[in-house]
Amino acid sequence: MKLGTKFIHAGVEPDPSTGAIMTPIYQTSTYVQQGPAENKGYEYARSQNPTRTALEAAFAAIENGRHGLAFSSGVAATDAVIKLLQPGDEVITGNDLYGGTYRLFTKVFEKFGIKFHYVNTQDAASLRQHVNEKTKLFWIETPTNPLMNITDIATVASIAKEAKALLCVDNTFASPYLQNPLDLGADIVMHSATKYLGGHSDVIQGCLMMNDTALRDQLYFIQKSCGAVPGPQDCFLVLRGIKTLHVRMQRHCENGEKIAHFLRNHPKVARVYWCGFEDHPNHAIAKKQMRAFGGMMSFELKDDSMDAVKKVMTSTKIFALAESLGGVESLINHPATMTHASIPREERIKNGLSDALIRLSVGIEDVEDLIEDLDNAIG
Ligand SMILES: *Cc1c(COP(=O)(O)O)cnc(C)c1O
Repeated sequence: MKLGTKFIHAGVEPDPSTGAIMTPIYQTSTYVQQGPAENKGYEYARSQNPTRTALEAAFAAIENGRHGLAFSSGVAATDAVIKLLQPGDEVITGNDLYGGTYRLFTKVFEKFGIKFHYVNTQDAASLRQHVNEKTKLFWIETPTNPLMNITDIATVASIAKEAKALLCVDNTFASPYLQNPLDLGADIVMHSATKYLGGHSDVIQGCLMMNDTALRDQLYFIQKSCGAVPGPQDCFLVLRGIKTLHVRMQRHCENGEKIAHFLRNHPKVARVYWCGFEDHPNHAIAKKQMRAFGGMMSFELKDDSMDAVKKVMTSTKIFALAESLGGVESLINHPATMTHASIPREERIKNGLSDALIRLSVGIEDVEDLIEDLDNAIG
C-alpha cells in the first residue's frame, strides 16, 4: 500500500457498535465486566482505551512496524525507553540532541546510575570507540534539531547489532512521510506526535513503534505502570492528523525547498542549514534514507549581533515566534534561548549551535507570503 492510502486508513475500522467511520472518543475511565476477570479486553483506561488502540495500530502501520504505543508526550515516550535500562548501563547518543531529551538524560537519568556518552553520531569510528559490555542502547536523531545534521541510520543499526544493543531513532523531524528507521534496522522509532503527526499545534503526545513483540510487551508494561498515557481526545486528534500527513508534508517540503534557496541567495544571510542542498555535508546519506528533505531549517545572518537576530525574530508577521514545529502554521524560533536553553552555552557552541542561529519550521501557507514575510523581516 502506498503512503497516502496508508496514512488515511491505518488502524481505523468502522466503529463496531454504530459503523461510525471515525473512531469515537471513548471518554471513559473504566469498563463494566461480565464477571470477575471476564471482560472484552478493556479493564481500566490507563491500560487500554479503544481510541488509543486505534491510534496505536495507526502508529505501527505508518512506520511499517508491528506495534505502536502512545504516550502523553514525546519526552514521556523517551522516558519509557530509558526505563528499559538498569543502573550501570550505558547509552551512546548524539551531541546535538533535542534540548528536552538532553535534559531528561542529564538531569533525571544520570542520577539513577545510567551513563550517557554524547558523541558525533555521523562518525562511525567515534560510535564504535564508546562501545563496551555495558552498552545497551544507541539513541539518535536525524536530521538533528536545529543543525540538520544527518546520521546514516543503517550504519548505526549495524554498530548497535554488533554491540548487542538496541537502536532507538527519534524520527520527529523527518516524520514517517520522509523516513522509516525500522526499515533501516532500528529497533524502536520514537516521535513527538506533538509535531508533524498531530500537525495542527493543538496536542502534546508521543509514541514508540517497534517490531519485536517481547520489546513491545516490556514497553507496554512501563507505559501502564508509569502511567504517562494520552487521553482519548488527544488520541482522536492525532489519529485525525495522521490522515493528512502526506498532503501536509508534500507542501512542507515544497515550501521548505523554496525558502531554503531564497535564504541562501539573500545578501544578508551568511549560512543556511538544510539537508536538501547538494553541498550539505551528508546530502548523499539524506538522499539515500529520506524521500525528500522537509520544511525544517536554520540560518545565520552575516550580522550575528543579538540586535540583528532579535529584529528578525520580532519582525515577522506570518512566522510566529514560538517553540515547537511541524504544524500547519510557520514558526520562527531562537534555539539558544528557547528550545535549547537547557544545554550549557559552552556545550552548545562547541557543537556548532551559535547564539545567532535562527530556526524555521516552514508551514503550509502560500510560499510567496512566507518569502515576503522573511524578506521584510531580514530587511
Ligand atoms: C518536541 C520534540 C521532542 C519532545 O516531545 P514533546 O512532545 O514536546 O514532549 C523530542 N524530540 C524532538 C526532536 C522534538 O522536536
